[in-house]
This record gives sequence, C-alpha cells and structure tokens, in this order.
Amino acid sequence: KTIIFYNQVWKWEEISGLDENYTPIRTYQVCQVMEPNQNNWLRTSWIEKGDAQRIFVELKFTLRDCNSLPGVVGTCKETFNLYYQETDSEVGRNIRENQYVKIDTIAADESFTQGDLGERKMKLNTEVRIIGPLSRRGFYLAFQDVGACIALVSVKVYYKKCWSIIENLATFPDTVTGSEFSSLVEVEGMCVSDAEEEADNSPKMHCSAEGEWLVPIGKCICKAGFHQKGDACEPCGRGFYKSSSQDLQCSRCPAHSYNDREGSWRCDCEDGYYRGLSDPPSVACTRPPSAPQNLVYNINQTTVSLEWSPPADTGGRNDVTYRIMCRRCSWEPEECVPCGGNVGYSPQQAGLVDTYVSVVDLLAHANYTFEVEAVNGVSDLSRTQSTTGPMERVQQRSIQLSWQEPEQPNGVITEYEIKYYEKDQKDRIYSTVKSRSTSATVNNLKPSTAYVFQIRAFTAAGYGTYGPRLEVTTKEEASGTSRTHAWILAKQTILPSASAQSVDCVSTSLPVRHCGYSKADQEGDEELYFQFKFPGTKTYIDPETYEDPNRAVHQFAKELDASCIKIERVIGAGEFGEVCSGRMKLPGKRDMSVAIKTLKVGYSEKQRRDFLCEASIMGQFDHPNVVHLEGVVTRGKPVMIVIEYMENGSLDAFLRKHDGQFTVIQLVGMLRGIAAGMRYLSDMGYVHRDLAARNVLVNSNLVCKVSDFGLSRVIDDDPEAVYTTTGGKIPVRWTAMEAIQYRKFTSASDVWSYGIVMWEVMSYGERPYWDMSNQDVIKAIEEGYRLPAPMDCPPGLHQLMLDCWQKDRADRPKFDQIVGILDKMIRNPNTLKTPVGTCTRPISPLLDQSTPDFTTFRSVGEWLEAIKMERYRDNFTAAGYSSLDSVARMSIEDVMSLGISLVGHQKKIMSSIQTMRAQMLHLHGTGIQV
Ligand code: AMP
Repeated sequence: KTIIFYNQVWKWEEISGLDENYTPIRTYQVCQVMEPNQNNWLRTSWIEKGDAQRIFVELKFTLRDCNSLPGVVGTCKETFNLYYQETDSEVGRNIRENQYVKIDTIAADESFTQGDLGERKMKLNTEVRIIGPLSRRGFYLAFQDVGACIALVSVKVYYKKCWSIIENLATFPDTVTGSEFSSLVEVEGMCVSDAEEEADNSPKMHCSAEGEWLVPIGKCICKAGFHQKGDACEPCGRGFYKSSSQDLQCSRCPAHSYNDREGSWRCDCEDGYYRGLSDPPSVACTRPPSAPQNLVYNINQTTVSLEWSPPADTGGRNDVTYRIMCRRCSWEPEECVPCGGNVGYSPQQAGLVDTYVSVVDLLAHANYTFEVEAVNGVSDLSRTQSTTGPMERVQQRSIQLSWQEPEQPNGVITEYEIKYYEKDQKDRIYSTVKSRSTSATVNNLKPSTAYVFQIRAFTAAGYGTYGPRLEVTTKEEASGTSRTHAWILAKQTILPSASAQSVDCVSTSLPVRHCGYSKADQEGDEELYFQFKFPGTKTYIDPETYEDPNRAVHQFAKELDASCIKIERVIGAGEFGEVCSGRMKLPGKRDMSVAIKTLKVGYSEKQRRDFLCEASIMGQFDHPNVVHLEGVVTRGKPVMIVIEYMENGSLDAFLRKHDGQFTVIQLVGMLRGIAAGMRYLSDMGYVHRDLAARNVLVNSNLVCKVSDFGLSRVIDDDPEAVYTTTGGKIPVRWTAMEAIQYRKFTSASDVWSYGIVMWEVMSYGERPYWDMSNQDVIKAIEEGYRLPAPMDCPPGLHQLMLDCWQKDRADRPKFDQIVGILDKMIRNPNTLKTPVGTCTRPISPLLDQSTPDFTTFRSVGEWLEAIKMERYRDNFTAAGYSSLDSVARMSIEDVMSLGISLVGHQKKIMSSIQTMRAQMLHLHGTGIQV
C-alpha cells in the first residue's frame, strides 16, 4: 500500500529529485539549517497492522553534512527522529507530540557530496528499525526534524511471515512471525489427504522471527492403503496393499490372495484359502492340512496306541496339530456314539504336536473307531465357511450366522464385526453388523441372492484381520431349499476290537477330499508363520518370552524329517557343534543345498535351548538379505538347524581371499544388500548387536545376507567379543560407544557396526583399527578419532561411514536412509569415482594411534610381515629397497615396477607406505597435508 504523508508545519516540502541512478523520484525534504529550535513533523497516514505483531520500517534518505554548509554552525543538525503512535482507528491530522513513542534517532552513514560539475549528488542511506509488539489495530509513523537537511526518499513498512509449506506430509499455513525477536511461533500441521498423524507424534513446526520454518517435530504418515509420493499420499495399486500406516510401501498381495481395487489395506484370500485370525495381512493365505498319513495302531489290553506320519500337505502353515476322535460302534447295524469321558488320552486328545497318542481305559469286547484329524490355524475358519450350522437358519430375507471364537485371540474379544455385500453387485457396497456374541442375524436381505460375509474380532489391541469369505444365498421367495456344502473331514479310520485277546483289526482309508485343490497348487507355498503383538505390525518376538522354548521353536521353525537331510562335509565350527554342508530333499520339492548346524552329543538341556534359540529367531525373518531358515530337526539326533547354503561363506574371509578383485560398484552392491537386510531387521524391532563382516554370509551370486542370530550367547560365541567394564562381552571394534559404555544396544548402535562393516568391505577385510589394543580403540573413539577412508574408497562412502559413527546416536542415519544413499550411488556411478592421482585418505590423528607404528620396524622384512605381504620381500630386496626410508619414498609406479601384479596387493602396500610416510613426517614435527 502507498503511504500518504501529512506535513504538519509545512516546512517539509514534496520535491522531485533524482535517485543514484538519475531516475526521477518524489521525496520529502526539509533543510531549515540556518534557524535554531526547529521542530518540523511529517506523519504518515494510518497503517492497519493486520495480523502482524512485529513491524519492520525501512527508511531510505539522504542527509547533508553540516560541514558542507557554510555559516550554519550551532544550528545545523545531522539527525532526525522516528516516532510511532498506536491507535485502533484513524485520528485527526493534528499531531500531539506527547502521544508519540520514539523509535530511534536516525543518523546518516553517508552525506551529500558535491559532484564534479558542482551538482549535489545524493548518497542514499538505508536504515531499518523494528517496532512491536503492537497491540492496537494500526499505527502512524512520524518523522521529526530538529534542523537537519534531509530528503526522505522512501519508507517501506512490512512484516515477516513463514509461507505455507508441506513438510512430513503435513500442511503448515502461512504464519505471521511472533512479537519478539526471539519468539518462535509453534504451528500445528494438518495432515495432507489420506495421511494421518503418527501416534504420539503430531506434526509441528516453528516459525522464526525471520520468517523461516524451524525445528520440524512429528509427522504424518500415509494411511493404510496409501503410500507416499512426493508430498502426497496415493492409493496402493490393484494387487497391492498396505496394512498399516506404519508401513512405508505398498506390498504385492501375498500368495493365494488378491485384490481388485485401489487403496487396499489388505488382500482377500482366494477361494479355499484363509487367513488365520492372528495372521497379519503380509502372510500368504493358507488352507487346512491334508489328512495325516500311515496311521497304525497297536492294542495292548484295553489300551490302543496310535501312530501316524504328518500330512503330505500342511496347507502352507507350520502350526499343524492333531486331535483324536473316538467313537464306540455297535456291530450290526453299525451305529456309533462318541466315547465320552470314560476313556483317557495320553498325552492328550487335542492339540497334539507329536504324531502319537495312547487311548486308555477302553471297554473290552467293544468296537471302536478312531479318527485322527490334522488341524492348523485355518482349519476352524474353513469349517465356519462350510459347516451346516449357519445354513440352517437361512431365510428369504435374513441369515443367522454363528462362528467359533478364534483359537488364539489377541486379547479379550469384546465384539465381532460382520461385513457383507451382495456377491454379484458390481460396485461392492459393504454393510456391517456388530455382535458381542459368536452369532448374529443379518436382516433386510433380498431373497435368492448370494451374499458374501466376513467376520473379524475386536480386542483392546484393535480389530483383527477378517476371517475367510463366507458365501450364502438367501432362500427363494417360494419355499426353496438351502444350499449346503458338506464338509468331509480329512480322516483315517481304524476299527479295532479292543479286547483282552488279540483280534484281527481292519484298517481302511477313506478318500480325502480337500477343497478341490490339487497338490500342484501347493508348490512354492511354504511360508513360515509367526505371531504378532499387534495386528498389522510385524514384530520380532524374543523367544525367551516363551515359557516353553520348544513351543517357540515350533512356532517359528518348521520341523523337518531327518530322513530328508543328507550331511556331506564339515565346513566350519559353531559354538554348539559342527557346521556342515549337505542336501535336503523335501517331498514334492526339488533337492537343494543346505548348511546344517548340529548340536554336539552330550549337550545339556540349556545348550539345546540356546542352540535352538537361533532358529526361533531366524525363523521369524523372511528377507532376501537375511539368511533363511529352512527348518529344524528336534525330534531326532543329532538336533539340527537347517539353513540355506551360502556358497562363499563368511564375508570377511571371502573379501580377504579376493583382495582387490571387485569393482567399487560390486562392493557397494554388497553393502546395499547388508543395509537392506538390516533395515528389515530393524523394522521388525530386532537389534543384532554383533553385526560384522564375519557374521555376513555370501552366496554364489555375491548376495550378502545377515546371519548369526541369537541372544547374548551369540556374542559369547564371538571370538572378537571381550569383557568390558560394564559387564558382558562386547565385540569392541564393531560396537557403538554407548553400547560399550552403558550397554545401550539399539538399531542406532547396529548402524555404527554397519559403518565398521562398510570399512571392512572397502578395505577387503582389513581388521578395523588394525593391531590397536581394544583399550586403545575405546580411548581413541572417545577422543573423537575415527577410522580413515580405506585406500581408493570414494569420499562419499567414507562420509557415510563417519555419519554412522556419530557420537550422538540420534545423528546417525537410519538403515532406510543408508539404503537410499547407496541406491543413489549405484544409480550415479560418477559419485563413486575417486579422483585419479589424489589420495583421498585424510590425515587423521587416528593414524598415530591405530596403525602399526612404522617407526618401530627395523627392516623392510618386518614391515612386510606386519602387513601380511611378506611374500614380496624378495621383490623389494632385488629392487634395492633395503631401508624403510627408501620404501617411504616409493610411488605407486615404483610399487608396480617391483612386479607385484595383483591390484589389491599394490593398493595395500601403497596404502601402508602412505601411512608410514605420514607417521614419519608426523614424528619429525612437520605439519603435512596429504
Ligand atoms: P556360525 O556358528 O554361524 O558362526 O558358523 C560358523 C561358520 O560356518 C561360518 O563362519 C561359516 O563359514 C559357516 N557357515 C555358517 N552358516 C553357513 C551357511 N548358511 N552357508 C555356508 N556356510 C555357513
């Protein structure tokens, strides 16, 4: 807005002039320098302040130097005063001086000067003053001249604000800055559409007095079914889902599930497949197991022992148990009644994990039929779909449903929600009905119409996943019949005549109908299942929280038949026994190479538990960069853990063997894999504590996978781990400061270890901190020293290592960010180039402390031995390098001319020479820059 000026005593004159670029401008001028006691006021029009609390006033003016005006001594001034008055509305034009508040006395930095041609050249002054906090609706500014020669060229009045932005998926509106210079205005963000606030972390930002957004706190995240794209949330595409706002990406529907709409939080199971109530949306849909096999019995007096083999098809789950049904039958005609409570079962009738049972206290001379049923986590669900129960209550316009409570509810179930829709309707419009019991009647339906129902339970932890889809058709208008699907139990029957004498027994197998799926459909459907603390969040469960460790193993690991495994040769030594390679052939699967960890004979119960603990942990993971557990053998000897075979063994040894043989991109590719595996583990809430190249395995395609899981024992097992003053064993060189100092192990301490792994990889398996003692390593790290860049390591990678070794763990990058950074490097290989002919290794004080002290070596031979390059001793001697001084002057060309052809070895020697040179110079007190 233009400011209008009122000239109180008409001494100020509105005059045209020229600015410094000789552009014509209008100014207010006053120059009453000859007369004393001047008091000339010029005032602006009323300025409404709007939302502003802190106002900036920028003045541009010129002031004439009194010295340049002859005969004005005593009367001429070189300043003027700036005032303001706050009012809620315009007041009259008369100025009452006492109502004005003085802002400042303004003096000039520059004065008029006389130009070459005698013209007055203006030197423009700019001064800014701040007024506030203001509380009235508006204000006036006034300029008081007390006898100076002034030309007021421009007055700019403004305030600052932080402009609307989107940060962390939250919109922050235009915000006017606070009233004080030091005040930050806290602003709540509004989540963009389809995003929600992260729990206990609502988005906030602070608008600084300078109009800058500072200190973002909290964030919004895309809701379930949506993923982030730029500053917005977009729906997951068809065939994809995102079950929770916590997940970053939409995932492809797991096996045997689908969805045909966008923005889904989960996928529906294919017909015949189900999702257990505790199964998260990320696991494949599964089906009930096939019948147990090879059922045999043995009669002893009034006891029948039954034994069988596991079903050929577990339905894709590893929670198969067995239950026994006993019926006593009359001979002719055969009529059977349940055995009731008079017979006993050892160990129990249902929930059997093992494949045998004894039925005791049978009657003599009676005919019994036993059925052994294999059940898994979805057997009951499949039955809800096909029991005749709900169907009996099908009416023309209503359907009564009843179902069973889930076997392992996630807390006390307070309510069920039944969702349903008309099956043939194009746009699926869902309706819902709620029920506090395990039955509900759905009314107002259309006759002869197929409806699809799904039920889910609600507990304190929230809603579980929906059960399988149940299709029911209402009755016809005329008295129609209801459709029923007979459920044929997967069973095997035997008819023993339990008697004191032995009587011939007949064993028959009923044909098994299994939901119409052929065996072939099952291929590739082997998935491990685990329990979840919260629906939708995949969380690592500490096996030690299980009272019965055996249950933990079987919860997370598949029990394998020992006869499927063939041990071929020993490849390593583990803490509990040998590590072997061998082959595994599962029924209906291709034969595969496996690594087999064995538990040595004569183990204690605790050793067995600790040994299997690794399987309970590994079995919870399913990621291409985490070593995959095939299963365990616990019901035989030796007890075994069967793992995918990693042809190239552990990463440290592999790199040392192939020193200098990979491109930087290949090395970064390995690091990317390890980071992706660690990202997955940290997302699951698992802290590794012993991440090191020796605990990463490499397969034949150079894919690196994180391995060596366990609780504290893994670290006990690690030869690198030493006791520290805080108690417990710690692999010092790989461990973050806070974990060494006060055992604070977190994903951020894993990030530190990851930085060390980066260094190990880029230096082809060099030992971190070389031959320094652990005590010295701790001291050096505490003093702020960090490992220098390995030879030829791109600066960007070393920077990433340094970031991983930030003292404050909150400053370290997250694995997610590390993966992102490495991906970027791989996409732009130029960023990985090391400038030729320059040494990128910074001279670090660590060199003094960490590398072997070259000044103590007495000969070239001793030095070569220390860096494990003694094989080139003769090459050095033959070329006349007899003293360390002469070696320290060698260039890379010199090293190459010795006939050392392996690039990795050339680099290693050259790297050591550079360090040696640096140490020598350092010793001699020269400030060097390499
Ligand atoms: P660990 O007890 O896990 O440290 O295993 C001891 C050694 O066995 C390792 O250093 C590897 O060389 C080898 N090893 C362990 N697991 C595997 C595997 N899955 N594939 C190939 N080699 C393995």
